[in-house]
Amino acid sequence: MDNPRQTSWGEGERRELLCLMMIGTCIWIAGTQLGLFAVLLDMTATHQLQDLLMLALCMSLGVVAAAVRKSLQLRKAMLARDGAQARAESVARHDALTGLANRRLFQERLDARLSQGPDVPPLAVMLIDLDRFKPVNDVHGHAAGDIVLCAMADRLRALVPTGSVIARLGGDEFAVLFDFRDDAEAVARLAQQVITALAQPVTCAHGRVEVGATIGIAIASPQTRTSEALLHAADVAMYQGKRDGRGNYRFFQLEMGHALKVRARLEQDLRLGIERGEIEPFYQPVVSLPGRALIGFEVLARWRHPDQGLLNPVDFITLAEETGMIADMTWSLMRQACGDARSWPAHLQLAINISPLQLQDRQLPERILAILTETGFSPNRLEIEITETALVIDLEAARVALKSLQNLGVRIALDDFGTGYSSLYHLRELQFDKLKIDRSYVASIPQGEERAKLVDAIIALGASLGLLTTAEGIETASSVEWLAGQGCTYGQGFLFGRPVDKTTTDGLLETWSDTDGNIVLSPTEITAFDAAKAA
Ligand code: C2E
Ligand code: CA
Ligand code: CA
Repeated sequence: MDNPRQTSWGEGERRELLCLMMIGTCIWIAGTQLGLFAVLLDMTATHQLQDLLMLALCMSLGVVAAAVRKSLQLRKAMLARDGAQARAESVARHDALTGLANRRLFQERLDARLSQGPDVPPLAVMLIDLDRFKPVNDVHGHAAGDIVLCAMADRLRALVPTGSVIARLGGDEFAVLFDFRDDAEAVARLAQQVITALAQPVTCAHGRVEVGATIGIAIASPQTRTSEALLHAADVAMYQGKRDGRGNYRFFQLEMGHALKVRARLEQDLRLGIERGEIEPFYQPVVSLPGRALIGFEVLARWRHPDQGLLNPVDFITLAEETGMIADMTWSLMRQACGDARSWPAHLQLAINISPLQLQDRQLPERILAILTETGFSPNRLEIEITETALVIDLEAARVALKSLQNLGVRIALDDFGTGYSSLYHLRELQFDKLKIDRSYVASIPQGEERAKLVDAIIALGASLGLLTTAEGIETASSVEWLAGQGCTYGQGFLFGRPVDKTTTDGLLETWSDTDGNIVLSPTEITAFDAAKAA
């Protein structure tokens, strides 16, 4: 391509100029020989002067022609450069996949609007984050993911008011900038329309896939007068929407900013806490029914927070999952628990909860095996508890991971049975060893026959599939009798013991064991346990 910066005359052009001047000279020779100039010019000057004048004129014509050609070339090169520059700028400011603005352009537009001062119409920013997009990529491949993203972009284009800026900020995150017009209801309506539109299925090569959207909305205010501040506020609101169950929209409120700071602090504490071993395993007894012989413990995480005291999983498990710390936390717990259990009778088992996200880790079986080897804990004594969420995220990954674990001798329990998505489907699809009946069902047993029938049906279902069943959350002695009568294999609940730390468990094991080494939790021991717990 011509280099527009090369404005001086180059070698080639000098030759071209000479050529054109030579052509001019030739024209002059021809003109003088044929006497053409005498016809053209009626000069008073001498013949000699007339010839010289015409020579100069013809050569100048050559110079002019060369100059015109050069300037035309320059103009063409400059146009090409401007076009290339415009294309490069457009590429740098647009998302190549969807053609929407990218984060850079979005922020430029936002900053430009905000810098117009307080008199311009108030602005709103809508931050849209897709729900369940990752499984689309993981299960159906990136091509399907791209189709979904383009479909979402088209749906947004069709919905937002004219004059809005739509951007793909990255990954599965979109943003829309539009005039607020002091009409929060209209904004809320638009957000709901976007959620409904984005939730419609998308057809791709592998069939129909569905994603959802959670939206955070921020209106420009004196506190949010920069693009960063406004986007951050929308992000905080969106995050709140995710916490509230996804598939919804939230307007930014100042308290949310405060909640976010608290969370950031807790996140920092948790990171340090995991490193320092502040997350420790508590043990809740599991007994066989009807004999009440202790068969082992469920390992439940507790955080000994240096300032806030003992924290329950509800205060930190979700945070650990959202920040990717759950894996480190689980491995630390598993290491501690396997170490603790070494001094306990060899028939006692440990059941450990694995977060749904961890089942997507292809190295999961190897990691567990490494801890078992390191602590000398037999795989036959280990049970992994998973919830159905894991299976919904990625059934194939779960199938592979669970099969490899079972091949090692580890048992798999389906936790919180009955609260999931399509329990029967998953029971048929995967080979579990055990069903844990959710405590909401067990708690309802004393409430009447209808509820009890449901629990009865679950136990019968487990038995028909050759699965063991554990009833969780047993609090009353009458429930135990009834569950044992229905054929439920194991029981767990406050009636037999709350989760307690290693030292307390050591003491209780000593109290519970009879001279033959059997450990049976009879009603007297339950009282002893409760006394220990109360102390
Ligand atoms: P989960 O796996 O269903 O654990 C049983 C929960 O029920 C425990 O709560 C236990 O204390 C409680 N529970 C047991 N018996 C009774 C009873 O008779 N009555 C009542 N009302 N509750 C009873 P916890 O320890 O607060 O754990 C809550 C949840 O946190 C667990 O539910 C589990 O989903 C999660 N969790 C706990 N530890 C871990 C962990 O190490 N990793 C992961 N991923 N999740 C964990
Ligand atoms: Ca569990
Ligand atoms: Ca459970």
